[in-house]
Amino acid sequence: MAKVLRCGDLMPGCNFVAEGKDVADVMAKGVEHAKKAHGLSQIPPDLAKKVQAAIKDK
Ligand SMILES: [Zn+2]
Repeated sequence: MAKVLRCGDLMPGCNFVAEGKDVADVMAKGVEHAKKAHGLSQIPPDLAKKVQAAIKDK
C-alpha cells in the first residue's frame, strides 16, 4: 500500500509531502528533504521514530 508523510506533522509550517510505495521509500524521501530543507545532517533516533509514526497509508 502506498504511504504518505506530511512533514508539517513534524515540522510545523512545512508543506512538504513525501509519497512512496512503502515506508522505506517514504523514509528515504523524508530524510533527503530533512537534509535539504531543514539542515539536518542526520536523523536522530527519536526523530526517526516520530517520522515513522507520522507515515500514514495513502
Ligand atoms: Zn519539511
